[in-house]
Amino acid sequence: MFGFLVAAEQTRFSMRHGLTLAANSRRWRIRAGTPLRGRAMKNDGPMEHLDDWEESLAARYPAGDSLPVPRSGEGAAFRDYSQNVRPGIREFYRLNHRHQTVDFVESKKRQYLPPRTKRMGVWEAMEFLNTLVDDSDPDADFSQIEHLLQTAEAIRHDGHQRWFVLAGLVHDLGKILCLFGEPQWAVVGDTFPVGCAFSDKVVFPEFFAENPDRERPEYQTASGIYSEGCGLDDLHLSWGHDEYMYHVAKDYLPAEALAMIRYHSCYAIHREGGYTHLLNERDGQMLRWVRAFNRYDLYSKGDERPDVRRLRPYYEELVAEYFPPVLDW
Ligand code: FE
Ligand code: FE
Repeated sequence: MFGFLVAAEQTRFSMRHGLTLAANSRRWRIRAGTPLRGRAMKNDGPMEHLDDWEESLAARYPAGDSLPVPRSGEGAAFRDYSQNVRPGIREFYRLNHRHQTVDFVESKKRQYLPPRTKRMGVWEAMEFLNTLVDDSDPDADFSQIEHLLQTAEAIRHDGHQRWFVLAGLVHDLGKILCLFGEPQWAVVGDTFPVGCAFSDKVVFPEFFAENPDRERPEYQTASGIYSEGCGLDDLHLSWGHDEYMYHVAKDYLPAEALAMIRYHSCYAIHREGGYTHLLNERDGQMLRWVRAFNRYDLYSKGDERPDVRRLRPYYEELVAEYFPPVLDW
């Protein structure tokens, strides 16, 4: 159990210092000499950096775990993770689980959907997201663009289709919600259905005790406001960068790419096997793509640093193949 605490903390350390270390008896390898990364700014949240959440995911699901991994039984590693995670991450999840209600999700959908806050091209959005840097971090040279390119490059390296690579490139662009003034807990974090009983498959389920939706009897049954087998697309998931980016991209990318974008943070479903009673047959196929994507998102961070200038022409062309020059955000 203690090994996980060490793993989580050392993973963070290793990300910054390019070390190789053992995490929960598996090798968590960060290439030696990986440059220190600058990370997204604090943004008035409990986490030091917006990216701390994604790094904590890699600690929760160490590289080498086979995919798909709907966990069975007690999920001891899952519990160990939540008991040993750093206080900032824990507080982040407490706020997230406290405030993500049906009313909140609906209000954010009214505010941001259809997307109309800004008009810009995809590369411009990447550069906009890149302004989300931590001024206090002297090594703030590893940018949001680099995480996107690293994910896309890992997908391209494995010979996947062009739309799959493009999904990697744009999957986190919804984090520009931070730049629109949204708090950390409404931009990143594991997503989960609201409007029905919260599942123990969601990390830190105990924090749902503070969620006001717990007082609404209509939300307390397994299916809540939904009908069994209604399918993922009919659920209201907690609000964040996934759902927002899905709406930005939905007219332009194939369904599989859109599923990757929309559900990549829904670990309770794609990784823990929860909420199966709400899924339909098509979701089974789509979740396979989400899982295929997830490994690139979580485990490409230790890869070689992408050369942004060299890669830009390839990706500009790929973007132009699917997206208009300017779109609504
Ligand atoms: Fe993401
Ligand atoms: Fe990501």
